[in-house]
Amino acid sequence: MSKLLERKVQELKDQGVYRKLPINYGACGAMINLNGKEVINLTSNNYLGLANHPRIKAASIKAIEKYGVGAGAVRTIVGNMDLHEELEVTLAKFKKEEAVMVYQSGFNCNAGTIQAVTGKGDLILSDALNHASIIDGVRLSRADKAVYKHSDMKDLERLIKEKRADYETVLIITDGVFSMDGDICKLPEIVKLAKKYDCLTYIDDAHGSGVLGENGRGTVDHFHLHGQVDFIMGTLSKAVGVIGGYVAGSFATKEWLSHRGRPILFSTALPPGTVAAINESIKVMSESGELSEKLWENGNYFKAKMKETGFDIGNSETPITPVIIGDEAITMEFSRKLLEKGVFVSGIVFPTVPMNTGRLRCMITAEHTKEQLDKAVDVFVEVGKELNII
Ligand SMILES: *Cc1c(COP(=O)(O)O)cnc(C)c1O
Repeated sequence: MSKLLERKVQELKDQGVYRKLPINYGACGAMINLNGKEVINLTSNNYLGLANHPRIKAASIKAIEKYGVGAGAVRTIVGNMDLHEELEVTLAKFKKEEAVMVYQSGFNCNAGTIQAVTGKGDLILSDALNHASIIDGVRLSRADKAVYKHSDMKDLERLIKEKRADYETVLIITDGVFSMDGDICKLPEIVKLAKKYDCLTYIDDAHGSGVLGENGRGTVDHFHLHGQVDFIMGTLSKAVGVIGGYVAGSFATKEWLSHRGRPILFSTALPPGTVAAINESIKVMSESGELSEKLWENGNYFKAKMKETGFDIGNSETPITPVIIGDEAITMEFSRKLLEKGVFVSGIVFPTVPMNTGRLRCMITAEHTKEQLDKAVDVFVEVGKELNII
């Protein structure tokens, strides 16, 4: 086996896409100590800068003093602390939905929820650019799957018309904000189609939470569609700054998932320090929209400057700014050269994105200063010229 994997790793090296995991020697902020060097961090999902927020750290430490560092069991046995209950009430209120079920990560939330709410004999309609954890959840569900062209509502309706009559339950799943391109799903149209053809809807709002809507309430809030999407999934690991995932929706959804969500039944509950941190983080977001306003200001500033320089920055509608290079090996080389000059943006290539659409995905946060963003643009231009991209 190890011989086989050695050969496979060698193939990655031959293709120029082999990489070592970068090591961050401190907190995740606008500047990081990467592999021992201070660099501008343009690649985290810490949109609001909450991952290292003093108030949130203090809340976490206080909870550790009282509750310890581990939950001790899965939630269905004895891992369910009052902190977990409090978090779900706080989150449901923040999301303006009836109830919330919290998972240990966004990934296992998708994997666990999709398989719990659909099964053999159902149909799932999935956007072509949906996240890997959705794809895995769909596989685990053993439901039939049909993929519609990215955000193409005509194609979605065509599939529904073709297949709706053959199934009792049809679930439409989409990312809220598409993580590799930064575009927003056409949720109002999806909801309309779902109503017209009696389908269920599921949105993965990992990149919409903390970014879109009032105080970062997410894509559903952005479009004023509260109560109209059946399953609203989000992460607690990106803008919220900690770790975890959740589904917001009806009381019945929560109750069903507490009986049939496999990560709830078979994986230990989030530790108390983490849950207290998330609780505080949601409080910070609820109290003020200041951080999400700063995030948008920074994102718009960076995108405008990058556009002027002539790079292809795709069709992002959010602070996610993909700089599309194309070739996989050149994308990775671009990333290495940026890092040499003090700017960290990881190259994203196949299989995370389609072949020949390799990109440097710049994640702008509320923490970046104008000086850092200016410096990053200058370095991009330097490397872009060196590699004959612009
Ligand atoms: C990051 C991400 C996830 C997984 O969330 P984690 O909390 O990091 O496990 C799920 N869906 C999308 C669209 C994501 O971007």
